[in-house]
Amino acid sequence: MRFLSFHTDDGIHLGIEGEGEVVVDLTAAAGDGVPGSVAELLAGGPDALARVRAFLETGPPARPLDDHDLAPCVPDPPKIICVGLNYRRHAAEAGNPVPDHPIYFAKYRNSLAGHRQHVAIPAATSRVDYEVELVAVMGRPTRNVTAAQALDHVFGYATGNDLSARELQTRSSQWTYGKAIDGFAPLGPYLVTADEVPDPQDLDLMTWVNGEPRQKSNTRDMIFSVATLVADLSQIMTLEPGDLIFTGTPEGVILGMAEKVWMKPGDEVVCEVGGLGRLSTTLVRERR
Ligand code: MN
Repeated sequence: MRFLSFHTDDGIHLGIEGEGEVVVDLTAAAGDGVPGSVAELLAGGPDALARVRAFLETGPPARPLDDHDLAPCVPDPPKIICVGLNYRRHAAEAGNPVPDHPIYFAKYRNSLAGHRQHVAIPAATSRVDYEVELVAVMGRPTRNVTAAQALDHVFGYATGNDLSARELQTRSSQWTYGKAIDGFAPLGPYLVTADEVPDPQDLDLMTWVNGEPRQKSNTRDMIFSVATLVADLSQIMTLEPGDLIFTGTPEGVILGMAEKVWMKPGDEVVCEVGGLGRLSTTLVRERR
């Protein structure tokens, strides 16, 4: 199932993709076990999914996807954990050795952006780069699990773009300043349930800038798998329903190019992971 979140006059609604490019509003029908938000969907477990399935069989009204102003597919995650240098060929293009342990950093909710959202480039940077990433969405409280158990705790997956300001990222040893920028974590369009992703380590990743192919790789090149990352994080923290893990980007970023032409206002970057959906972001100049 492919869930999405969209803005309405009375806040963010949860929707689900119907047959074709249409959206069924679940929040408008919420009650009797039909979830009205991502949080209710995750809290409801398999029962909530069954209720949604039954509701769809009643033939509820649907509207075209293009009529919707999409929010991040998980609009209110408790945590956003990111992993740096997690692909072999990307570590090489960035001039870094393959790390012995995962390199974690954080983003916050201010960075989330929906599909087709315009994202402002702050005046503080002139070196904006893209990073297509597989994002894992946790489904239940997770502590001290093994890698063999880990994927049972993942609710689903989404396409993400870990937008980065390179000169700010490397100004100090901590990357937060170049990463936790408003709108710099586009996510979506869909939150796809894990049953539609039989192997998260065999998904193609692609990025285009203004239609030109930039990144083309596969999650097979990941150094630390999704299962390994979930197990590792769970040794020190409780992962909660809705937590996001941005699992790193493959090669093909601007940082790794001989001639670096950074992103500029007006550029459209499109990211896609497997069949999870194409995520479009248009960069704009910051209004001050
Ligand atoms: Mn990244």
